[in-house]
Amino acid sequence: MSPQAARVDLPALLREVPGDKAFGVPLARYTSWRIGGPAEALVAVENLAALCRLQAVARRHGLPLFVLGGGSNLLVRDGGIRGIVVLLRGAFRRYRLMAEDTTALVEVGAGYPLSRLALQLGQQGWSGLEFAYGIPGTVGGAMVMNAGTSLGELGQVLVAARLLLADGRVSELPVAALGLGYRTSSYPSQAILLAARLRLHRGERAAIEAVMRQAYRQRQRTQPLWLPNAGSVFKNPPGVAAGRLIEAAGLKGTRIGGAMVSPRHANFIVNVGGARAADVEALIALIRQRVWQAFGVLLELEVRIVGEPACSE
Ligand SMILES: Cc1cc2nc3c(=O)[nH]c(=O)nc-3n(C[C@H](O)[C@H](O)[C@H](O)COP(=O)(O)OP(=O)(O)OC[C@H]3O[C@@H](n4cnc5c(N)ncnc54)[C@H](O)[C@@H]3O)c2cc1C
Repeated sequence: MSPQAARVDLPALLREVPGDKAFGVPLARYTSWRIGGPAEALVAVENLAALCRLQAVARRHGLPLFVLGGGSNLLVRDGGIRGIVVLLRGAFRRYRLMAEDTTALVEVGAGYPLSRLALQLGQQGWSGLEFAYGIPGTVGGAMVMNAGTSLGELGQVLVAARLLLADGRVSELPVAALGLGYRTSSYPSQAILLAARLRLHRGERAAIEAVMRQAYRQRQRTQPLWLPNAGSVFKNPPGVAAGRLIEAAGLKGTRIGGAMVSPRHANFIVNVGGARAADVEALIALIRQRVWQAFGVLLELEVRIVGEPACSE
């Protein structure tokens, strides 16, 4: 427990903040890996006013605030997350479309599921998010990760981001100011992403759906979707797929505790049952070491590791 958190009574402090709250909830329930220790406090906020109240309480008491999207790119350590974990619900899970002839601007809340948005807009004949169909998680997580595939990435359709800055001001930044790159971004420190503005263009519904169906089939063929995972663990180094290097290093099927390098796709680590974050971290370290020894390539993580190790580690 953090020194601040040791001194504060979180349930009492958060009484003035509207929204559902839970204390000591295992975050394994909220991550696609089904791994993760408890959140000291988990708060689901329904609108900007509630989020601002929460942020103000956190600021006043020096409590860390962590926004959890769909938890599909996260390894939460076994000791959990100190302070407050926030889920964006209600008003953050809506979108509004303004069509202008052959283009449309879409204002979408950061809590909206990305893949659902791609499907719904595709069904209305709006093109540009085909790549996003099948990517789990929220619009906010995709803005942070600049999520994408070989078909495209969020930065190509993102026009601007609306943010709640650490000092409580709401600001809008154009895409050029967001530092988007390959699965990376550089938002102002501690900013909470509230919404995205996207620009899509008019397309043929049937053609859009065909692209999405094809991409989804490809996922089903190549990814171990039947076991909990977090997608690609490592970024692809220039010119080569990380999975190819891991496979060539002979690591498919390698297991530590409940974590295994997927025999289906070597850049996926699957939870075969009861995996702890420590198992996944140990497997990550082993993969990096073996790939470095075999090919002189240092693999960079795509997944984000957050939280505290378990007390016994
Ligand atoms: C089966 C599978 C397939 C996948 N395929 C792909 C793929 O093809 N391409 C791809 O790019 N990714 C892929 N991923 C990874 C993942 O889905 C993406 O990175 C996704 O965009 C993460 O979104 P999320 O909401 O789950 O974010 P989370 O995992 O919840 O969070 C990721 C980071 O974003 C931060 N964050 C989230 N929301 C906010 C917010 N509102 N404000 C501030 N910070 C925020 C979190 O604090 C965290 O640091 C895959 C994952 C799985 C499980």
